[in-house]
Amino acid sequence: MTEKSLKILFLAAEAVPFAKVGGLADVAGSLPKALRALGHDVRLMMPRYGTIRSDKFDLAKIGEPFSIPLGREEECVHLIGGTMDGGVPVYLLWNDLYFSSRDRVYGFEDDAQRFTVFGRAALASLRLLDWKPDVIHANDWHTGFVPTWLNVTGWRAPFYRGLATLFTIHNLAYQGIAGRLILTFAQLEEVKHLSVEPPGDVNWMAQGIAHADLINTVSKRYAQEILTPEMGMGLDPLLRERQERLFGVVNGIDYEEWNPATDPNISYRFDVETLDRRAANKAALQQQARLPARAESPLVGMVTRLDEVKGMDLMEPVLTWLLGEEDAQFILLGTGAPEYHEMFERIQARFPNRARAILKFDEVLARRIYAGADMFLMPSAVEPCGLGQMIAMRYGCVPIVRATGGLADTVVDYTASRSRGTGFVFEAYTRRACRGALQRALRAYGDKKTWRTLQRRGMTTDFSWSASAQEYVKLYRKAMELHGP
Ligand code: ADP
Repeated sequence: MTEKSLKILFLAAEAVPFAKVGGLADVAGSLPKALRALGHDVRLMMPRYGTIRSDKFDLAKIGEPFSIPLGREEECVHLIGGTMDGGVPVYLLWNDLYFSSRDRVYGFEDDAQRFTVFGRAALASLRLLDWKPDVIHANDWHTGFVPTWLNVTGWRAPFYRGLATLFTIHNLAYQGIAGRLILTFAQLEEVKHLSVEPPGDVNWMAQGIAHADLINTVSKRYAQEILTPEMGMGLDPLLRERQERLFGVVNGIDYEEWNPATDPNISYRFDVETLDRRAANKAALQQQARLPARAESPLVGMVTRLDEVKGMDLMEPVLTWLLGEEDAQFILLGTGAPEYHEMFERIQARFPNRARAILKFDEVLARRIYAGADMFLMPSAVEPCGLGQMIAMRYGCVPIVRATGGLADTVVDYTASRSRGTGFVFEAYTRRACRGALQRALRAYGDKKTWRTLQRRGMTTDFSWSASAQEYVKLYRKAMELHGP
């Protein structure tokens, strides 16, 4: 018997190509497309920020404006919509006060209110559209209101009763905490205080976790890690309570977007059959970075936010060893905390012929690093999923990663498994362990045949969205089953 195709509403605060701050936008831009390719009616809904221009995206007004109640006031909202790549319908919620007058996604004093408005408007708009999904897929704290409202009050209305919810945690570090007055604003005063919430506050991430039919994170390893006090960001007691409903599904990458055979931004295009051409990308990168053109020296690359969680505090001693004692080159592309900008500048000044630090955000250079560096270093302390390591493997750049979250789930250590290894993995978050992994990589690099094998394996491992989209479909069906009619 073939299973019925599903109606899925995908809710996210950011989505490529409309607005991007981080990895959530990549997921929201590509997972719906993959679900649609499997035959499901998935539609994306997000706020219309001031930066999203109707003329740039071919968006048109849908239906009449409608009001939503907020505290003692009402706000007027209307919908504009269009179609994304791959035929996914997209709806943007337009409200002047909370979204259209704002020139960025996050970082306002009233973010908790703003995303409460998003959730309230999203639910109300379904009536206007007269479209009743089987499942609402809510993402991160910005959508925590939705399962909460459905569970606490929405179920009373027949239209909303049957809506199952899946709540995905992309990053537990951001939780959306506000004083309990927000419940008056949300007209949800019946919401119970959770023991993980600070006294007098509401935590939308926690509420989303507590009320969704099913919960998942973006890798299996991270789903385990967040159950511990070390990595649970204060929510581990709640997550342990709901452990039976918590799953992990690793993110994919968009294989059309990230393809060394067609990427117009790299100097020489190549695929697994024409790996020899990759050397020309390395030479072009060395030239662009003003590093000596040395074909044989291993070139280690990093493309990263400069944030503590990305393993920055290991870098100075490890790079001092790598560039001081080994015949290696290093290139970093990243922006973030000023102290790390200074740190990489110091390293560059100390090893001017070996290290280059480019302290900015540059989409094109990022691709040239993936296509030209020999090794990709990602020594993260915390990494819910991580995209860099998957992109690197797709481009024949061998990853060196710490065994955490999605890094542990996507890179197989070559030292532990010669027949399946795709990179080099270290366990302890120490400079010694990081250095050890680099040493193992350098040794393998010295043997051309081994290195080719590693590159080829990474390039042919399937990190596309299709497998993960099928996992999500299973979770949607399970959420529906648990929710009941
Ligand atoms: P996170 O979402 O925590 O930053 P991910 O590995 O999931 O980490 O995703 C990071 C993405 O952002 C990758 O696609 C990476 O190439 C890109 N990126 C990070 N820093 C830069 C930069 N300075 N310039 C260009 N792209 C960058």
